[in-house]
Order: sequence, then C-alpha cells, then structure tokens
Amino acid sequence: MSEQMTVVVVEDHDDLREEMLCYLQRPHWRVLGADSGEALNAWMRKFRIDVVVLDVNMPGSSGPELAQMIRFNDDWIRIPIIYLSAETDIGLQMSALLKAGDDFVTKPISDKSLIATVFARAQRARLLSNALSRDSLTGLLKHADIKEQVAVEQERAMRTGKPVSVVMLDIDHFKKVNDSYGHGIGDNVIRALANLLRQRLRRVDVIGRYGGEEFLAVLPECSGAQAVQILDQIRQQFSGISFSSETGDFSVSLSAGIASCAELEASALIDAADKALYAAKNTGRNRVCLAEI
Ligand code: GH3
Ligand code: MG
Ligand code: MG
Ligand code: MG
Repeated sequence: MSEQMTVVVVEDHDDLREEMLCYLQRPHWRVLGADSGEALNAWMRKFRIDVVVLDVNMPGSSGPELAQMIRFNDDWIRIPIIYLSAETDIGLQMSALLKAGDDFVTKPISDKSLIATVFARAQRARLLSNALSRDSLTGLLKHADIKEQVAVEQERAMRTGKPVSVVMLDIDHFKKVNDSYGHGIGDNVIRALANLLRQRLRRVDVIGRYGGEEFLAVLPECSGAQAVQILDQIRQQFSGISFSSETGDFSVSLSAGIASCAELEASALIDAADKALYAAKNTGRNRVCLAEI
C-alpha cells in the first residue's frame, strides 16, 4: 500500500498515546492523536481516515460509545476500528465491545502487533475504496470483489448479531433482448439496471456485476423481509422502464433471489440466494423469492 494512509489513535493517557504515535510513524502514514471524542470527531471531519485505534476506557465517552458514533455516520461505517484494551477489560465484555469494533490490541502494546493489526485492517478497508477495479460497463464491483465483500459483511454480521441479506439478481429473457434489438441496446439495459440499483440501495450496500446480466448485492443490517420489500420495489420500477429501439419501445423484467442469515458462510449464502433466484425463474420470472434457511 503505497498511497497515503491516515490513522487516528484515541487515547486519553498522554504518554501511551505518544508512544503509539511513535510506533506508527512510517513513510506514507499520517498518524494523528486524539485525547477525546471531540478531538476524534474533528480529525474525522478534516481527513479521510483509514483506521481508528480506540482506547476502551476513556473519561467522558467510552470507546464503545465513540465507536457507535462513528458507525452512525454512513460515510464512516466502513472505517475499521481497533480497540486498545488492558488485559483486565478483555474477559469483561469482549462481545459487547466487538459490537461496533473490528479488532483488539491489548496493552501493553508491542509495536509489531499494533502495526500489523492497523496495516491488515487498512488494507482490507482499501479493498472497498475507489481504487478497486470496477466493471467498465456498469461501474460496479467485479465478480471476485463483490464475493469478497459478501464475506466481509457476513463476518461483520456474525460479530454484531445484526442481520445481513445477500441478493442474486438476473435479467429475464435477456438473450431475446440482444437477439431482437442488438447487443448495444442490451448493454443499455444492463447499465440502466446498474444505475437503478445504485440509486435505490443504500450507500452501505455493496453491489457487483456477478456475470453478464447477473448482479450480486450484499445489504448489511437488513433482514430478509426488508430486503424482499426493497427488491420488489426495484423489480417493479425496472419493469416500468421503457427502452427505445429502432423497432419500437420495449420493457424488460428481472428475477431476484434473497438469502438472509448471519450464521451461514458467505459462499453458502450466495448459493442459497442463487437457488432462490432459480426458484423465481422457475415459478414464472419477474418476481423476488426469499430462500428458506
Ligand atoms: P433467463 O430469464 O433464464 O435468465 O434467460 P436469459 O436469456 O436472460 O439467460 P441466458 O443466460 O440464456 O442469456 C443471457 C444472455 O446475456 C446471453 C449473453 O449473450 C448475454 N450477455 C451477457 N453479457 C452481456 C453483455 O455485457 N452485454 C449484452 N448485451 N449481453 C450480454
Ligand atoms: Mg484510558
Ligand atoms: Mg437472464
Ligand atoms: Mg443469467
């Protein structure tokens, strides 16, 4: 990772904070210290932060409270949070703490473990950034990257106990669109669906082009029932779009399969969504099916 990376260390203990800032000094890393929630907030508004290292015990607002504050903002929801905790905190509330955080480093902190954890988390988060290679037709994530993001969100859902939904979506009878109106018009249809998905899904949702006219999306903190509702709206809206061709206007429909379950591994979730998609195809297309898990 040669681009600039920005890390904030939030620790009220001045000596410890300075020590950590020292450990983390290296080429291309901008390392900022904060002794309070207010100071953290100020840095977060000023810079695009890659990783937050957060002390669990702080006067004023606790580490977990600050983590919730970060997660509350859509723009910050993907910033990795690494907790710093004393050995004695760990037994206490590990699961509660991990609710809004991603990792732990325990005090006393060795420079190696801190650097390794910060670096690993930053690299993972960077996968999501615009530096990712995107599909040229749609601007969405490509096959391997969207699969990776399903895994990231499934792991997060496991930790937080929040739901996650995976959506597999396929354009109906698309071959006929190409055959009737030409490949160029077919491309327009694919692009239109990509734009609709981007508009209708939330900023925290991740969308990819899984194959030719097939899309995969992962919706964090979204139950199966909620996902069915939103996808059904998208389905209706898509079928209402009037596409133009030399031989007249036409419309196209889509089918979707949804799987929602934090306990299933990413690949099993994708399989379940795919099976639900095939159920939607087999029962008449132009519909959304929820996998029974
Ligand atoms: P179903 O309702 O069962 O999904 O039928 P379908 O015709 O959509 O499915 P099928 O898998 O038979 O055909 C998909 C077609 O999508 C075949 C392929 O030529 C076309 N396709 C794949 N990628 C692209 C693309 O980038 N642009 C265009 N225009 N067509 C594409
Ligand atoms: Mg402290
Ligand atoms: Mg199709
Ligand atoms: Mg297909």
